[in-house]
Amino acid sequence: LYGERRPNAKGVDLSDIRELDALAKGMQDADAQTWRGIPLIGGGQTDFDKRSAITVKSPANNDISVGEVVWSNEDDIEAALAGAAAAADGWSATPGRERAAILRRYADLLESHMAELIALCAREAGKNIGDGVAEVREAVDFCRYYACQVEDEFDGEMLLPGPTGERNTYRLVGRGVFVCICPWNFPLAIFTGQVTAALAAGNAVIAKPAEQTCLIGHRAIELMHEAGVPRDVLYFLPGDGPSVGAKLVADQRIAGIAFTGSLATAKAINKTLAERDGPLIPMIAETGGQNAMIVDSSALIEQVVADVIRSGFQSAGQRCSALRVLYVQNDIADTLLTMLSGAMAELSIDDPWKLSTDVTPVIDAEARDGLVDYVEKTRQKLDTIYACELPEGNGTYVAPRAVELKSIDDLGEEQFGPIVHVIRYEAENIDDVVDQINQLGYGLTFGIHSRIDTTVERVVRRIKVGNAYVNRNMIGAVVGVHPFGGEGLSGTGPKAGGPHYLHRFATERAISRDT
Ligand code: GLU
Repeated sequence: LYGERRPNAKGVDLSDIRELDALAKGMQDADAQTWRGIPLIGGGQTDFDKRSAITVKSPANNDISVGEVVWSNEDDIEAALAGAAAAADGWSATPGRERAAILRRYADLLESHMAELIALCAREAGKNIGDGVAEVREAVDFCRYYACQVEDEFDGEMLLPGPTGERNTYRLVGRGVFVCICPWNFPLAIFTGQVTAALAAGNAVIAKPAEQTCLIGHRAIELMHEAGVPRDVLYFLPGDGPSVGAKLVADQRIAGIAFTGSLATAKAINKTLAERDGPLIPMIAETGGQNAMIVDSSALIEQVVADVIRSGFQSAGQRCSALRVLYVQNDIADTLLTMLSGAMAELSIDDPWKLSTDVTPVIDAEARDGLVDYVEKTRQKLDTIYACELPEGNGTYVAPRAVELKSIDDLGEEQFGPIVHVIRYEAENIDDVVDQINQLGYGLTFGIHSRIDTTVERVVRRIKVGNAYVNRNMIGAVVGVHPFGGEGLSGTGPKAGGPHYLHRFATERAISRDT
């Protein structure tokens, strides 16, 4: 989509020793610095050195200090809201192609800072090298995709038909101040996607990162400023949900919210929006999923095993798209589960900094304790098929685990980590399986492995999800290729990296002139 105007993100060829050496050196150099995550609230003087800072520890090793974060206070929040409200109209009036050029410059800066950003993703978010490369590439893709769309659809106005003596036009303009509340699991890619979409559409933006990944968010905003986004148009407010996010959401000066995170928080935001005074404003929410994969007896088992490993355990299962429930036709279940166990035994659970690491730590101790607690409490109901051994150390690691469920009724809440639930089904019940998955109410990703075209067609037609994957893994949506986002309890849409996303950040104006 958009051809040569949207070159592929560079990435890193991890099989080329020279590229690897350069990456390793860049990461080491970057690692020598102490990263900071402080509020960015226009040009105003603020003495952050006098405020108490929080030391950020690496999830892979609690002895490693990554940087320091200063959380936003009430004055910072007020300064950002007032400044953004004052700057919004001016930014919306800039030609779309100027905003697009800034996005492209930011994309170039992301690529030239690739090694530093991968190092930061490894240290602060516990991402392995492959996931770090993917973070940067996805962020770059978002910028270039939205830049093209802004040039095509947001510059000037569209002429509409009308009777003689009347000139009718249609234009898309920014809504005002957009608040972007970002998740820790894609602290650069989703963060960049939300913020650049809001900016591209002509909004002033206040970005609130997840409290676990303020350093990455801060660095991204610094680079956006360096690329040319005016400082009074783009603000950064590190902090937690209650003290920063909730205040922003309740403020009448904001004109829209982009949120990626838990279903509970999405509902709380909706409630605040319904109860507060002021204009009715859009919320674009992407929440979680109970994503299922169906494997029938015609599937290629070796490929299924590779795709289950990737979908369930890459990024330590901390993707909204990750596989949670694997339905296997009974006839092949024993073979498949034996091979899956063998493949799990080969996983390298190790330091994100090492190229060979497959499974990294989960984001923090709270996440680890929740997952461990879930495993303990469900021991009676869930038979362990295979659980990996954990390495020694003081990182927040959780053992990848495959467990067998007797029935879908025993599935509890979404577990955001490396746990795959397996359910056996009989061939004649495949339509009931689809009903069970739909009845969960989520609708993000889904996978099917089958070589029978009619089965695939029937299932894909009936399954209610935003992203269905056939005979492949079910994670790693690519901008413009797999527009990403769900329905039902999984989110409001429109899909990130798809043709309608930017429009939700804008308002439409129709102008009819008597000529
Ligand atoms: N887009 C990501 C993927 O396809 C998941 C995004 C998320 O976890 O929110 O894997």
